[in-house]
Amino acid sequence: MPARYTMGIDLGGTTTSLAVIDARNYVAAKRSFPTRAEAGFDDVLRRISEAAAAALREHPCDALGVAAAAQVDVEAGVLVASPNLRFANEPLAARLRDALGLPVVLENDVSAAAYGEYLAAPQVREPLFAVFVGTGVGGGLVAGGDVFRGADGFAAEIGHVPVVATGGEPCGCGRRGCVEAYAGGSAIVRRANARRGPPPEVPAFTDVTGVVRAAAAGEAACQAVLEEAADYLGVALAAAVNLLNPGTLVVGGGVARAWPPLAPRALERMKESALPPALASLATREALLGAWAGAIGAAALARKPARS
Ligand SMILES: [Zn+2]
Repeated sequence: MPARYTMGIDLGGTTTSLAVIDARNYVAAKRSFPTRAEAGFDDVLRRISEAAAAALREHPCDALGVAAAAQVDVEAGVLVASPNLRFANEPLAARLRDALGLPVVLENDVSAAAYGEYLAAPQVREPLFAVFVGTGVGGGLVAGGDVFRGADGFAAEIGHVPVVATGGEPCGCGRRGCVEAYAGGSAIVRRANARRGPPPEVPAFTDVTGVVRAAAAGEAACQAVLEEAADYLGVALAAAVNLLNPGTLVVGGGVARAWPPLAPRALERMKESALPPALASLATREALLGAWAGAIGAAALARKPARS
């Protein structure tokens, strides 16, 4: 009997990742390529279809799961809105189903990544709450073996948990004082440049790696911005622990990888603030799948019979 493969595609603001997994969730193939959202939805869709068709020739798949950096309507398979991709109201699942002849499910990328992390370790105690610190801060919740979305898909949106009562840094959501406005990669870069003072004698930081490098070289302002990012993240994590009582808490994302002390420091800070009984049996770990969590999680979600 042939192997039962499923495919997952993680449509991100800058990079699109594709993974094929087998029935035991092992990765059989993977590749990534630039999303180039500025070329428009039809062009992005065409390149995704070509990459998927090439992968299908090597590994015939039963279903495709797409994780998008977007607000999605899971039932309808519609990408509702996405500031990163600048697409709105696109019937992504139907278009890919027509192009590839496969059942297609659509999921938010952070929820798919949380589901990937849920499958990545044996005997995970539920609920699992996963936080990914990248350009922004995203969260995903897995309970009862499935993604928990809330009434409108905004469950587990830890990035916009306020950590400052009044005022605070402006956030991309239009509010102030959200944890993302301190701990997200864009916020870290913005805050490091502001603390550092005006150029021209030093070029402005453009990414978190530059801030991390300057901190390692002894720039106290950069070190402080990174430590504050971890501390604010820890406060938001404490709120999540008290609200959700997760069995497992996972911290990952590009900023966590770029500055390895982020997750341990945030978890320590969380332990100072969360309810002690909620911490007693909480398992914490760093993410295991790196940048592939969304594609792997989407592939696994595509296999769930209730969705196909
Ligand atoms: Zn916000």
